Amino acid sequence: MVKRVFNFSPGPAVLPLPALEEAQRDLLALPGEGASVVEISHRSKTFEGIIQAAELNLRKLLAIPEHYHVLFLQGGARLQFAMIPMNLLRGSGKSADYILTGSWGVTAMKEAQTQGPVRAAWDGKTEGYRRIPKAEELKLDQNAAYVHITSNETIEGVQFPAEPNVGEVPLVCDASSDFLSRPVPIEKYGILYACAQKNAGPAGVTIVIIRNDLVEKSPSDLPSMLNFKKFAEAKSLLNTPPCFCVYMVKLVTDWLLRDIGDLEKMHEINRRKAALLYEVVDRSNGYYRGHADPAYRSLMNVTFRLPNETLEKKFLKEAEEHGLVALAGHRSVGGCRASIYNAMPLEGVEALRQFMMDFQSKNPA
Ligand SMILES: *Cc1c(COP(=O)(O)O)cnc(C)c1O
Repeated sequence: MVKRVFNFSPGPAVLPLPALEEAQRDLLALPGEGASVVEISHRSKTFEGIIQAAELNLRKLLAIPEHYHVLFLQGGARLQFAMIPMNLLRGSGKSADYILTGSWGVTAMKEAQTQGPVRAAWDGKTEGYRRIPKAEELKLDQNAAYVHITSNETIEGVQFPAEPNVGEVPLVCDASSDFLSRPVPIEKYGILYACAQKNAGPAGVTIVIIRNDLVEKSPSDLPSMLNFKKFAEAKSLLNTPPCFCVYMVKLVTDWLLRDIGDLEKMHEINRRKAALLYEVVDRSNGYYRGHADPAYRSLMNVTFRLPNETLEKKFLKEAEEHGLVALAGHRSVGGCRASIYNAMPLEGVEALRQFMMDFQSKNPA
């Protein structure tokens, strides 16, 4: 029996055990194929079946309408920070709006600046990125090329409970760290994108869900590998795709459909898991201090501090000894962060909850 820890890594992150077991079982030979997914042509019938199944699973889970493309790209979410403005902003004569609720949004905006004019429609920086803006605080440009949001700020642990109203301007969302964690009304988005390594598979593939009319805007002078239209026309097979990653996305989404059911159910489980940890924070008499404003707390990344850094170090060290690993906060903010993506089992969250309560009683402030 292989020993697996409870892995609270923010990404690459824990994947569902049944998906890993299936990959392990079929690594030497896919059933009926006699060769592994990493050895066969991406133009083969077998791989075509895999990428189509992955897309179909995503379409089912997210109820993606017909008039959206589902693309499998490389370069991580980071490449999308540049590729989206290359395709939608450059040469448009417009500017792009960014709603900044944490570190990833800031990085996305900086990267977009290399392609055209950008504005911050709201910036939570002075408050330390703890919340989502209220509708009346947004200074939106009605003529913007798009409005960009980060649905879940992985570092600060701040999540949009629902889409902001941006009128007719296309809403573009970096959903890297809450993709497939809850149902999403795709029609409200122009583009929704996510790197796979938080909730959908291994690092190496980025899923881009993009409305048909936006694909048509790609300038023809872009290199093919940076051009949404060319990728959509080639059904993501412009070049060799990250075959193994796409295959893993298929296995993870198979798991969601087969073992969980749908994203409503996944959301319910995620709410329960997050509540178990936030409850400990809220009942700790200020021993654990949550970073995010309670109304905008992330269900995926639970961020909190202890009374001082010495206790934080001790907490992380002892947690690890209990098989609760990768709980350090991002180096830019410190503290602790429990990333509890879809595949983190309830038992892992319960073990952490108990550890937090025991740690507090043994280590008074
Ligand atoms: C992890 C993460 C990224 C970075 O993804 P890469 O694939 O490393 O480029 C971007 N945005 C968010 C919200 C993330 O959580």
